[in-house]
Amino acid sequence: MRIFDPHIHMTSRTTDDYSAMYEAGVRALVEPSFWLGQPRTSPASFFDYFDSLLGWEPFRAAQHGIAHHCTLALNPKEANDPRCTPVLDALPRYLLKDNVVAVGEVGYDSMTPAEDTALAAQLQLALDHDLPALVHTPHRDKAAGLTRTLDVLRSSGLPPERVVLDHLNETTLGAATDSGCWLGFSIYPDTKMDTDRMIRILRVHGTERVLVNSAADWGRSDPLKTRHVGDAMLAAGFTDDDVDQVLWRNPVAFYGQSGRLRPGIPAPTAADAAATHEGNSILRGGE
Ligand SMILES: [Zn+2]
Repeated sequence: MRIFDPHIHMTSRTTDDYSAMYEAGVRALVEPSFWLGQPRTSPASFFDYFDSLLGWEPFRAAQHGIAHHCTLALNPKEANDPRCTPVLDALPRYLLKDNVVAVGEVGYDSMTPAEDTALAAQLQLALDHDLPALVHTPHRDKAAGLTRTLDVLRSSGLPPERVVLDHLNETTLGAATDSGCWLGFSIYPDTKMDTDRMIRILRVHGTERVLVNSAADWGRSDPLKTRHVGDAMLAAGFTDDDVDQVLWRNPVAFYGQSGRLRPGIPAPTAADAAATHEGNSILRGGE
């Protein structure tokens, strides 16, 4: 089973996670930029983080045989902090980088006027840079949050096929499907969406335009949830081809719209462990 995790925050994960993901079949992933777990206090904090998503993290992933891409944005939560919003002015130069396959994650957290401004500005950046957009839907007040998100998307002029609406569930599936956007589902151990519910959604909706991710982050989460969905699909009577469409071909098709995707990466060799990124290796001392 080949797996492309289209939304996972590897910055918050360990090397054991990378090894386990490779063993489970993960060969490519997209890491959207998000918050640090505590508030950032200046745009400079974003710059170091973006540089790490463009440099160090792809290097670390490659050591484990996994191709790493990212999406960059001012995240919905920090769009409310005036210490952070100047990063919007610097985003254009970051969006030119080869490894950036979408603008994201953008969207609503608490549905404030500041979030309106940041969302509209960043959808415009996606248009300007000919990139797709990864749009986070709010975890509270989901239905109202999606309605407002879809209004902003319509007025942005960004074609729906270049947008994925993420963190969907049963209450938002209908409106999201009607919008023509791609449908993202984040599978968590005990909140939001689980494997059994995902299988029921796939039975009703089918496999078209569906992206399944583990969204693994600072919270209780599991980077192998993509594999669990693949196994559960097979157990529920879906074919290998169905699984391949959801877990590989759909994310490749969506992010491929950036023209920057390189999902194939050779398996790591012993020599790769000694490689360096800007003079830094993952080895310690004289190993
Ligand atoms: Zn996320």
